[in-house]
Amino acid sequence: MTVQLEDVTVHFGRTCALEGFDLSVAARETVALLGPSGSGKSTALKAVAGFVRPTRGRIRLGGNDVTDLPPARRGIGVVVQQYALFPHLRVADNVAFGLRAARKPKAEVTRRVGEMLEMVGMASYGRRFPRELSGGQQQRVAIARALAIQPSVLLLDEPLAALDAQLRADMLGELQKLRREVPEIAIVYVTHDQSEALALADRIAVMRDARLVDIAPAAELYAAPPSAFTASFLGGAN
Ligand code: ADP
Ligand code: MG
Repeated sequence: MTVQLEDVTVHFGRTCALEGFDLSVAARETVALLGPSGSGKSTALKAVAGFVRPTRGRIRLGGNDVTDLPPARRGIGVVVQQYALFPHLRVADNVAFGLRAARKPKAEVTRRVGEMLEMVGMASYGRRFPRELSGGQQQRVAIARALAIQPSVLLLDEPLAALDAQLRADMLGELQKLRREVPEIAIVYVTHDQSEALALADRIAVMRDARLVDIAPAAELYAAPPSAFTASFLGGAN
């Protein structure tokens, strides 16, 4: 399903977190949002998810205007660090949450939860509570929860940041596999890690000071950075 942000501006009081932001992500496409801390990456993602309301502009999913819809009615899989697991629910119930909300049959919920926990290497943790898990384990459960509802749009905000190198490589492999197995999925992937963006994204959008600076296919962006900012950002140790 296509994801469109049209001239989206988000103010938090006097802070302008996103300014006149335009982005269109096609079904089957993965776009990485790359940029320094505070450049508005998470705000752009939260606007699509419905966690923040644009001051101006529209959000469209599959062509439909969802700007006024609450998050739960957007049918999106979201992994946003600030929106952690439900602390009072066991791991399996966290992963089952969206499936139950969609009134899926019990047998299907059980099967799907098992598959998802297996995928992220957490099959034996279903009865634990989030507080009994490490940060990295919680993050893996959050990914399982996002994918459980088989979303046609997946929003990931630094999803691998809490993981060690080996797990990060494993989960990157799982996300690549997901793209092959669910080819119609559109993914918006926020990261400060260039290697993740290169491994996963069809196009990379570079952000600075609440604005989109450049957007281009990854190889093109590296071969011929369209702006001095992008050249220095990609060249730096980000
Ligand atoms: P990034 O994800 O690129 O690090 P953010 O989108 O989180 O950037 O933040 C962009 C700007 O908006 C920053 O200046 C940040 O301090 C500000 N901001 C983000 N969320 C809030 C909020 N809930 N209240 C006030 N300011 C916010
Ligand atoms: Mg952020």
